[in-house]
Amino acid sequence: MIIVLRKTATQEQTGDILERLRAINLTGQVIRSSARTIISILEGTQGLPSHIFSQMQGVEKLIRLESSAFKATAAEASVNISNRTVIGSGIPKVIAGPCSVEGQAQILHIARQVGKLGASGLRGGAFKPRTSPYDFQGLGLEGLKYLREAADATELPVISEVMAPEQVESAEEYLDVLQIGARNMYNYALLKEVGKSRRPVLLKRALSATIDELLNSAEYIMSAGNQQVILCERGIRTFEKYTRNTLDLSAVAALKNMTRLPVMVDPSHGTGRPELVRPMCRAAVACGADGLLIEVHDNPAQAYSDGEQAITPDMLKDIIADVHLIYDALTGTVERSLSSTTI
Ligand code: PEP
Ligand code: MN
Repeated sequence: MIIVLRKTATQEQTGDILERLRAINLTGQVIRSSARTIISILEGTQGLPSHIFSQMQGVEKLIRLESSAFKATAAEASVNISNRTVIGSGIPKVIAGPCSVEGQAQILHIARQVGKLGASGLRGGAFKPRTSPYDFQGLGLEGLKYLREAADATELPVISEVMAPEQVESAEEYLDVLQIGARNMYNYALLKEVGKSRRPVLLKRALSATIDELLNSAEYIMSAGNQQVILCERGIRTFEKYTRNTLDLSAVAALKNMTRLPVMVDPSHGTGRPELVRPMCRAAVACGADGLLIEVHDNPAQAYSDGEQAITPDMLKDIIADVHLIYDALTGTVERSLSSTTI
């Protein structure tokens, strides 16, 4: 942390700041030039509230060098979501399925389809955060049971959203990954509860959250004990109306630089348009995403929720082929095979 003093700060005010630092066992180094005085504190300021100094006489501003998201920077780079499936290592993983679990046969049917096409995981909402209370709210616990059956039948790990702390215990029983939806990224009681879980957590960025706020929410989960956090960019709200949200792929590259946590991309909620899902998947893999979360429905027109953005299994097939192509090109496999044919 650096405390920048006002040009008018007196010796006495500088002394008071150093005295306050000493009182809380911190050491400040004073650096003076003819124009400015600053005090640098290199250690021990993590979690220290800024107002302790910002309101002192002679202080112009505080510059915090440390990130508040310190667990996210030191975390493991990959998260195992099943015995066979790791997010954040190797080829980006595709997790696909309907927005909502609509019934036992429906989820089993889609699970079989996406599994056959090469998806690495199944998604489907049982507790649904709908904008209108009159819209389909999900099948709840019954939906979780159907998800588990479909996951077991296809040997796919399954992910679904939990919306309240009291849902976590039963969700853990049925799911491989707990999803925190965009609307709950700021639900700190829920974040702490999934932080106590043994299951990995996929944390979605809230509709208007900054990257730093997303990281702080990850920090809530990790500081409660659960280090298995996967971040998910799912689009943010901007002035643009053509797309449902603006998919912020720069956040993916930024998060990959800032943390070691795996980052997934949800192009379905990110665009709200099925024809944009494939190009955004390509771009997501190209910019470093560790996985894709995609809404797939075999009959989008009949879907109980988000049918307007669902892609069909046919489209998923093309996307999975793209993921392989782009990943191979980026990791050099294609280049190697081209040069070996030239030789
Ligand atoms: C979902 O994944 O179905 C969902 C509700 O997503 P989000 O929380 O990103 O809106
Ligand atoms: Mn949805």
